[in-house]
Amino acid sequence: MTEPPEKIRCDACPVMCYIAPGQTGACDRYANEAGRIIRTDPVVLLSQTVESDGRVVPFARDDWQADPFPADARITGIGSGTTYPDYKPAPFIIASQIDGADMVTVVTEAIFSYCGVKVKIDTDRYLGPEGATVRAQGEAIGHVTTAEYGSQMLSLGGVHHLTGGSKPEGRATCAALLALCNGEAVTLTIDAGSEVVVQAGRAPIVDGRPENRMRVGCGSATIGMFADQWRGLVDEVVVVDDHITGVVSEHQAGKVLGWESTGIKILGHRSTPGRYFRVSEPGLGWGGTKLTDPLEILGPWNAKKGAQPGLRLLMVSTTGEEFAYYELDETLTPQPKPLPDTLLPSVRLIDENCEPSLCTVLFMGGAGGSLRAGVTQNPVRLTRAVQARETRLTSGGAECYIWPGGGITFMVDVTRLPEGAFGYVPTPALVAPLEFTLPRADYLALGGHAKAIKTLEELMQTGGEYPTAAHLLPQTEP
Ligand code: SF4
Repeated sequence: MTEPPEKIRCDACPVMCYIAPGQTGACDRYANEAGRIIRTDPVVLLSQTVESDGRVVPFARDDWQADPFPADARITGIGSGTTYPDYKPAPFIIASQIDGADMVTVVTEAIFSYCGVKVKIDTDRYLGPEGATVRAQGEAIGHVTTAEYGSQMLSLGGVHHLTGGSKPEGRATCAALLALCNGEAVTLTIDAGSEVVVQAGRAPIVDGRPENRMRVGCGSATIGMFADQWRGLVDEVVVVDDHITGVVSEHQAGKVLGWESTGIKILGHRSTPGRYFRVSEPGLGWGGTKLTDPLEILGPWNAKKGAQPGLRLLMVSTTGEEFAYYELDETLTPQPKPLPDTLLPSVRLIDENCEPSLCTVLFMGGAGGSLRAGVTQNPVRLTRAVQARETRLTSGGAECYIWPGGGITFMVDVTRLPEGAFGYVPTPALVAPLEFTLPRADYLALGGHAKAIKTLEELMQTGGEYPTAAHLLPQTEP
């Protein structure tokens, strides 16, 4: 009778999987190979000189052969493994020479329960009310946050969705964050709002319609940019926008150019001359409003203030995608007419000045927790060194923005990392690569793990090894 295969325990995260020979654990990042726990993906190195024409490229995949070994090779945290429990040194602590200086880079794959993504969606379309719940697979994973100029913003993930709600909520949140961070498309629905497909570096798809253009500015800004080009070609211009609708004859830019009063009446909340709030509800129509007919925002024309038959009116949205031309008839009612050729270049110029619509995904996490013990025996010194910029923090080789204040709270553009850089564990939490680089002398002064320092050449000769012994399955499996 053959003995049943022996399972061994992975202790790279709190799940503590027991893994049978030839199998992987719950996160697929670790496997049992002949009684050893191994990381299933290779650690990723970066070089600017290998096959790269100057770009930074990841290499050291399974089939990579470099001869000679590139002198500028740098290690990343991708594929390195984790330090959990955190009393042991980080997976790789690598000495190197950078511009003649003795440096140390400490890498790890950190497990983040406190993490999320900030998503910037370049569109003036209305996606949903501020504070509305954002869902993936029907589960709440975040909310709509304050809009920025030309963009709608989402805040997704965070510890309350990952671990503070139901299991399906945690799983859906983790899956959506992982997909977004690894550059995959994710369909999100917003309560009382739209469905939007988000993918880092790609155009958003709002309610099935791909976005093309970011608005050139609000209606007022558009008037400021183009008033001069309309002078003499048309008598009145209204730039329709969900935020500020602009009217050239009343706007300061028009006044400076000597634009005459036209007797126009805008049905909205007048802010300052030529600038109107709330001309319509937010929606998928002209300029992010729900308007499909822009004439709905006009009241009666006033002959005493300059309205007269034949007055020429251009109405245009802030992306230039929608435009219409009218002339007042004998009853001072706008009648649609073909856009004169002379006005076409100015409409095209608005369109030309609109940047492409993109989704931007920034991963945000707090690296100020126990993972620091894998770097130094005195964790707060690492925090201080990062905050003082004496230690450089990168994620998968990408530059990070470090928030001021306490802890090591950072953000990174996920498109700057090599493909597939993020992972997860089923607690649930995200796994993100981190690299701390600092002068060797400073590292030792921080209380760094001096005995664990290796060179990259040593690492390439001996390979990476899971840093603790595997644990055999006890008699009674927990
Ligand atoms: S889920 Fe955690 S314990 Fe299981 S294999 Fe992955 S890292 Fe190891």
